[in-house]
Amino acid sequence: MVNHKTVQLSWSWQLNALPEEIWPFITDTNRLFKDLKQPSIQKVHITQSVDQDLIQLSYNGINRYEVWEEEPFEWEYPFRFGVVRHYQSGAFKDLKIQVDLKENGKGSRLIVKLWAIPRNKLLSFWTTLKLKTMVRGRFKNVIATYDQLAISDRQHYQIANNKGLVRGGEKRLRQIKEELYNSQVDGAVLERLIDFIRRADDLELQHISPLKLAEQWNLSKEKVFDVFIHAAKANLLNFNWDLYCPSCRSIQESVKTLNQIHEPIYCDHCEQEFKVNFNKTVQLSFTPHPLIRKINRGQYCIRGPQQKSHVVLQQYLKPGQKRYLMTDLKSGEFILRSTQSKGAAMVHVDQDGDDTVHVNISPSGLTGEEVHVANSPNLSIENTTDKNQLITLERKSWSLHGVSAARATSSQLFRNLFANEVLRKGEKISVDNLTLMFTDLFDSAGMYNEEGDDKAVGQVIDHFEILHKVVSKENGAIVKTIGDSVMAVFCEPDQALRAYLRAQKIISDDERFTDDFQLKAGIHQGSCVAVNLNSRIDYFGSTVNIASRFVDYASENELIVSQKVFSKYNLQEMLEESDNKGRVEDMNIRLKGFDKESFSIKRIQISDSPLRLAI
Ligand SMILES: [Zn+2]
Repeated sequence: MVNHKTVQLSWSWQLNALPEEIWPFITDTNRLFKDLKQPSIQKVHITQSVDQDLIQLSYNGINRYEVWEEEPFEWEYPFRFGVVRHYQSGAFKDLKIQVDLKENGKGSRLIVKLWAIPRNKLLSFWTTLKLKTMVRGRFKNVIATYDQLAISDRQHYQIANNKGLVRGGEKRLRQIKEELYNSQVDGAVLERLIDFIRRADDLELQHISPLKLAEQWNLSKEKVFDVFIHAAKANLLNFNWDLYCPSCRSIQESVKTLNQIHEPIYCDHCEQEFKVNFNKTVQLSFTPHPLIRKINRGQYCIRGPQQKSHVVLQQYLKPGQKRYLMTDLKSGEFILRSTQSKGAAMVHVDQDGDDTVHVNISPSGLTGEEVHVANSPNLSIENTTDKNQLITLERKSWSLHGVSAARATSSQLFRNLFANEVLRKGEKISVDNLTLMFTDLFDSAGMYNEEGDDKAVGQVIDHFEILHKVVSKENGAIVKTIGDSVMAVFCEPDQALRAYLRAQKIISDDERFTDDFQLKAGIHQGSCVAVNLNSRIDYFGSTVNIASRFVDYASENELIVSQKVFSKYNLQEMLEESDNKGRVEDMNIRLKGFDKESFSIKRIQISDSPLRLAI
């Protein structure tokens, strides 16, 4: 796009941070454009046909109305990113911005380059002057702040001023604080949360993730999440369920309650439908309650590198175009895709990989090729098709960085405080990797006979209370009780095992329980289907059936876990560290209803605690 009339500007600053340290800050273009005091933007409802990968945007401001078509951002982690815009009116016809990061002995050199093709001579003179003075000055200040944050462990909001609450907000906040203190919420975490709500800017408050904050604060995720749940109940926070597209990983919908989820969901970017999965596509995010602090939901950039932070390289190639790229990748598995052609290639990155790699996007597309690439390869990419191609290299492993719906709905506290959070009637949502635990009493008929109904029922009720406590303590939830049996869910098998061991210990130490009272359990992990049954979230599927058959099979004070789950989660080690050391036996069993399959299991016999033996 360069010709003799092109306006070219170049600014450069020395940073203390290395390219990979400054990268997450400088490529968060939604924040960058806001910090550069650009107006917020909106998607224009297309009035004329736009090339498939382009989007039409405009500023939201009244005094600055410009419409442009924006090409996809291009980036090469962690060295370069940029974007090209084609304006329909205003000073420039086309504008290209590119930012380069070059590592040097003192940190890195940041170079900002702008190329603009003028439309109107006078207008372009003034706009260029504005760029050279005001915009350059802002850029310099913003970069200096990012550089400072990148090399410290402080967060954006920690260097910001109080933003002020809504009218009456302070009074309401005082009441909420008192209420939360009375319900035994962790005071130190609550103070941090309030400080965050006061100082963070609107962008940080649009989708608050308790787990991300827990990581920044160096606190336990469970502890922070508990405070968030209480804070939402007390109207300090509100929450939404964000639905993420599994392909491009953008938020496609945000709903207030789970029963507003209607499958399938349509992704605007990918132009395809997707099914909802509680682990992979639904995440709980929080915002301040509007009666405490109002936030503006404006967006300043919608397709920058941080909005697809799992993508390490993105290039937009015209037909016949070839590029040489630079990158520095961590060892691991990556996927190479191209929008206009089908298929993908698997890319393994490690130090033994090839140093020089050429990728050709041809009319036949990518066909699952496997490529072995070095960490900093000489990479070339070529488009030999007759269409524009948006080529991406993304990290294969990706998970939600916040509280998945699976995690939230398997928390007892969440289920207790938000009992109305159920699914729409008839909606079936899949959940991967859920841990199920069933408990039951060994020979309960015998116990009822021996103890008499009154005493036996008393013990059963008391033991429900104990299970409720131990399950909550491990961040699990009791779904239901079926006779003397309890069905509980957890995110991880070790939480279930710890809950069972603790229950065993309490029961064996507690004089309310007689020797005839013997708790057994079965634990299994796998995919389930969540549905709304009797106004609560319940789970169905083979994993559930297997766990419930395991407990049927268990004998007195016995726990049965599948061999696979036992070794995958290193439960042996946990068992050895616990107070009640169990005797572990390997077995192969057949289960009712699964006659064709044989299950390798671990049968764990819990020994009586020393205290009980002494009596
Ligand atoms: Zn998508």
